[in-house]
Amino acid sequence: MRFRSLIYSEILLLRFVQFLCLSQGYDFFYFVQMWAGSYCDTKKGCCYPTTGKPTTNFTIHGLWPHYSNDKSPSNCNGNSPFDQTKISDLMSRMQNSWPTVACPKNSGTKFWSHEWKKHGTCSESVLDQHAYFEAGLNIKDKVNLLQILENAGIKPDDKFYKVDDIKEAIKAGTGHTPAVECNNDPSRSSQLYQVYLCVDTSGSDIIECPVIPIRKCNASIQFPIF
Ligand code: AMP
Repeated sequence: MRFRSLIYSEILLLRFVQFLCLSQGYDFFYFVQMWAGSYCDTKKGCCYPTTGKPTTNFTIHGLWPHYSNDKSPSNCNGNSPFDQTKISDLMSRMQNSWPTVACPKNSGTKFWSHEWKKHGTCSESVLDQHAYFEAGLNIKDKVNLLQILENAGIKPDDKFYKVDDIKEAIKAGTGHTPAVECNNDPSRSSQLYQVYLCVDTSGSDIIECPVIPIRKCNASIQFPIF
């Protein structure tokens, strides 16, 4: 009898550990690219990184693990601090494709550390720190959003474009439906701020989004000069 209840409690413990492991998982990533021109063109403004003005292209905001039930894990491992020495070989790509525009002016460490702690630690069972940042950089290299938009006649020229045309162009260029997020410039014009695409759990391929994030934009939005 004692033996049976021992086995039973071991099974329960195993199930609990399994549950903990599964609840640390994720179903896909949001890969979020931003238009720094729109981040800067707000009341709050921005600061260019110490390495200089970012290139006139979309840059990476983050690679965010997400669940199919539309919840997202965050801050999954307080014992895994950001360690820049682990990505020293990626530094020039980081500065080019994943630059900070937060104030006060800095090199980017603070932004990368935030992204790693809040999001990266939640996919650490699959991608270690180097693999996580490299995955973001590699996807960015696969999708040239600015080129895709320019091919459709949509340029960062301060003009207004239909948000549906922007989405259509990105869908045609990537093969997948994006989500577009807007913010407001100081005169309250809605402008193109971020583009969301979805990526498989290994961080390598763009996939159709299991959940398309809902972000508000006016029907026509400005694409600011940067
Ligand atoms: P997250 O918590 O990953 O959603 O990121 C949000 C935070 O990142 C906010 O504090 C933003 O102001 C900041 N942020 C977004 N893009 C950038 C960027 N390119 N450089 C620095 N901070 C950024």
